[in-house]
Amino acid sequence: MDQVKDKKILLVEDEPELLRMLETILKRDGFHQVFVAPTVSEALSLTAKCRPDAAVLDVMLPDGDGFTLLGEIKKVRDIPILFLTARGEAEDKILGLGLGADDYIVKPFHPREFTLRLSAVLKRTYASAMKNEMPVMTLPACVIDLGKAEVTKGEETFLLTAKEHAILTALCRNANRVVTTDTLCQCAWGDDSYGYENTLMVHIRHIREKIEINPSDPAALITVKGLGYKLVV
Ligand code: CA
Repeated sequence: MDQVKDKKILLVEDEPELLRMLETILKRDGFHQVFVAPTVSEALSLTAKCRPDAAVLDVMLPDGDGFTLLGEIKKVRDIPILFLTARGEAEDKILGLGLGADDYIVKPFHPREFTLRLSAVLKRTYASAMKNEMPVMTLPACVIDLGKAEVTKGEETFLLTAKEHAILTALCRNANRVVTTDTLCQCAWGDDSYGYENTLMVHIRHIREKIEINPSDPAALITVKGLGYKLVV
């Protein structure tokens, strides 16, 4: 699990080809929550709707500029912001960093440089939170190591799938509290998680097979009827 790649990235660029290229680079490198906007106004409505964790902004946009957009985004979400600047826009760079931009990338750039810079900014911003999200939980029947995405039960070690990991992370973070079915679906499938309740049940069954002594009579991952699930520790 690379949590950096679970972060939601907003790309704002008015050149359609460049925008498509940036999106392709990110998706190829494993970022799976990428949102794109060609204008300031669309970027702002996406910021409100999709709650990105970082934004990459072009400087010159059809209905405004990246610096004003940075200010508007920062008013509603305190997220890291990277600028894409044309070569020679030295003042743009300085101004961008003075405004609170986290980094900038000069066009044209190497695809690898783009994801490396973005990943570095994400790690810097979210490192401590990401560390805290990866606890080791010791249950009577097993040890769940979320950092390694594995469960050790007796002599056996089971690897967690990405969905199982997302579900268990939410349950561990809220140990001894009910986590609703909706919340768990959202953790595993993102904002468009409507209709995944039955699939969630399948994943819960697989998790029980890994963490319970008797999966059909669970002692740790309890169903709370009509509400959701609870991990008892
Ligand atoms: Ca532009």
